[in-house]
Amino acid sequence: MTRVGVVGAGVMGTGVAQNFTEHGHEVVLVDRSKEALDRAQEEIVRYERFGGLLGATGPQREGMSERVTYATDIAALDSVEFLVENITENWGLKKELYPRLDAICPAEAVFAVNTSAIPITKVAAQTGRPDRILGMHFMNPVPMKDTVEVIRGWHTSQETIETATALLNGVGKKGVVVNDSPGFVSNRVLMLTINEAVYLVADGVATAEQVDEIFTSCFGHRMGPLATADLIGLDTILYSIDVLYENFNDSKYRPCPLLQRMVDAGLHGRKSGQGFFTYA
Ligand code: NAD
Repeated sequence: MTRVGVVGAGVMGTGVAQNFTEHGHEVVLVDRSKEALDRAQEEIVRYERFGGLLGATGPQREGMSERVTYATDIAALDSVEFLVENITENWGLKKELYPRLDAICPAEAVFAVNTSAIPITKVAAQTGRPDRILGMHFMNPVPMKDTVEVIRGWHTSQETIETATALLNGVGKKGVVVNDSPGFVSNRVLMLTINEAVYLVADGVATAEQVDEIFTSCFGHRMGPLATADLIGLDTILYSIDVLYENFNDSKYRPCPLLQRMVDAGLHGRKSGQGFFTYA
């Protein structure tokens, strides 16, 4: 059993906490927002009770919520052995957080960065432990997805990759290890697709329903790009495309103005109840 620190209790942090605790690990879940922690706690208790109906398979789901400690102060992470960071996809926020995590967490702890697009090497450079930092790009919803994109930063050691992979295997997941690059493999492709799908709606070529139907009915994808965007969160999509635009300095990553307007209007997708589609 490992004591795992999870920073950020939004969509991803909550899922990561659920996944580790349902496999018997202890989790210290930290968020600067008390409301986010309260929502996460409710979600974790609900998952403990009803996860079976959703297809949860964690062998220690019963009693899992008692293995989670909630905190607004990162000082609570002073004895974690492994850390997964899932705060907002914003370089300014991550850059400010990592030196503080580095000072508080035990020197031997490995840090896994759960980011959609920010280069892992850039994050690692904010700490004195770049060999013990790697990317762990979980898929959403975390407990239901069995594969994680694992990213090797410039200085990431083979030992760190092996520690992280063993931990993932122990929570029912496998890792596909790739080298560092903005957006890695998944989001360098997916974000361009989603952005182009938003342009199609903005240009009046098709409705959101029609765009997605082409992907689901013609290509047989389980979800279209716009329903996927709603699931990820339109704010997170916009942040991720911005990261790609800044890092590659290439106009092909320019965010569609419609996406920016929807985010400004508070239409953040599934988590806000409204995005390209409406949610109960
Ligand atoms: P979210 O907006 O749902 O949650 C982010 C949380 O981070 C919020 O609760 C916020 O209060 C907290 N936070 C922000 N700054 C903080 C700080 N300095 N200290 C502590 N807490 C802080 O976002 P999310 O969708 O959970 O995404 C989190 C990360 O995971 C992002 O980097 C994102 O790119 C990545 N990611 C998201 C998805 C997805 O499908 N949503 C998939 C893979 C990876």
